Amino acid sequence: MLDVADALAEVLARVRPLPPTAARLAPDALGRVLAVDVRADADSPPFPKSLRDGYAVRSADCSLPGRELRVTSEIAAGVVPTKAVAPGECARIFTGAPMPEGADAVVMQEDTQPAGDAAVRVTDERVKPGQWVFARGTEMRAGDVVLAAGTALTPAALGVLAGLGLVEAKLFPAPRVFVLPTGNELVEPGRPLRPGQIRNSNGPMLAAQVVRAGGVATHRGIGPDTLPELLKLVGDELDGTDVLLVAGGVSVGKYDLVPAVLGELGVATHVRQVRMKPGKPLLFGSRGGTLVFGLPGNPVSAAVCFELFVRPALRVLAGHSVPGPTTVTLPLAEAVAEVNDRPTYRPAKLEVGPTGYAVRPLPWLGAPDLRGLAAADALLVLPAGEARLDPGSLAQVVLLN
Ligand code: AMP
Ligand code: MG
Repeated sequence: MLDVADALAEVLARVRPLPPTAARLAPDALGRVLAVDVRADADSPPFPKSLRDGYAVRSADCSLPGRELRVTSEIAAGVVPTKAVAPGECARIFTGAPMPEGADAVVMQEDTQPAGDAAVRVTDERVKPGQWVFARGTEMRAGDVVLAAGTALTPAALGVLAGLGLVEAKLFPAPRVFVLPTGNELVEPGRPLRPGQIRNSNGPMLAAQVVRAGGVATHRGIGPDTLPELLKLVGDELDGTDVLLVAGGVSVGKYDLVPAVLGELGVATHVRQVRMKPGKPLLFGSRGGTLVFGLPGNPVSAAVCFELFVRPALRVLAGHSVPGPTTVTLPLAEAVAEVNDRPTYRPAKLEVGPTGYAVRPLPWLGAPDLRGLAAADALLVLPAGEARLDPGSLAQVVLLN
C-alpha cells in the first residue's frame, strides 16, 4: 500500500502533455493552456489615445491657470483626427479617441469652463505633458511575448488574444475521459428503483469533476459485475480515450472484477491501494497512451481519489505545468477531535473571516455519505493518529474549486 504522495508520483511519472492542436478561441477555451508564445504583431494602443472625455491641449499653453483656448475640432473614438492643434488651440476629445497632432495632454472636461462660443477656460492648475494620454505601445510593443507558452487561458487572456486579432491559437487539448460506473445494484437517475437497487451517483458526479478539471467526459451507461460484459465494455473504450475512469468493483470482494478485467486486457497496474481515508482501494494503471483509474465505488471515496490523483493527471495532459492538487495551510474555524488509522480527507468548507480564510469541517458520516460532500469546496487533511486541534490551529487543506 502506497502513501498518497508516492501514489501521486507513480501517476505523474506516466503522464505527458497531449499533442497541441489549433483551436478556436471560443469561450469554451477558458482554462485551456497555450502551447506556443503569442507575440504582439503591432503596438497597443496603435495610436496615442485619450483616457478621458475633455480637451486635447498643448501642455505648454496651460502653464498659467485660467488660460482660454480656442476649440478648433472635435475627435470622437473611432475617427482619425485631421486637424493639428496649434498654439492657443485645443480639440474637443473623448475617451478612446486618437490624439491630434500638436497636442500632448488631455484636460478633463471637469477641469474646464465654457468661455464663449468656441473656447474653453482651463481650470486645471498643472497640466503635465502626457496627462490622460495612453501613449502608443504603452500596453505592448510589436514583437513582445504577450502570453507565454504554458499560460492557462483566463477570461482576460482570451480578451488579450482577441485584442491581437486572433480567432485561433495552438492549445493543448482538453483530455478525453470515459466514465464507466460499475455495479449490478446501480440504476440510472430518472428510472424507478427496485428493492436492493441504488442510483448511479458516481457517473454524473465524476463527469462533472472531469469538466471542472478541464476534461471532456463521455459515458455509455453502467457496467455490470459480470466478467464477459465488463471485459467487452472496458476493452471497447481503452483505445479511444486519454483516460478511462472505472468506478466501483475495484476492491477485494467476489464481485470486484475490475482488477481482473484490466489485467486480462493488458493494463499494467502501477498503484493498487493507497494509505488514505476514504479511497483506499484506488487502482491506477496504463495501457499504451491510455491512463486507467479504478476508483472505489463509495461516492466520497471516488470523489476524493479523483481530486487527489485523476485531476492532477488531467492537468498535466492539458498542458498545465503545476499538476496540483492545490494544497494550502489555513486556520480551523472550529475544533477537531478524531482518531484515524490513515491520513484522512474530510469534506470542509472555506469561510472568509475578519482575518482571512479559515476552514470548517462539514458534518460527514464517511465514505458513502455523499450528501456530506455536496457543499464542500475543500478537503481538510488530517494525519493518521489522534487529531485534537483547537479552533485557529493550522491545518492542511486541499482546494476543490
Ligand atoms: P464497490 O466499490 O463496487 O464495492 O462499491 C462500494 C459501495 O459504493 C457500494 O455500497 C456500492 O453500492 C456503492 N456504489 C458503487 N458504485 C456507485 C455509484 N455509481 N453510485 C453510487 N454508489 C455506488
Ligand atoms: Mg460493486
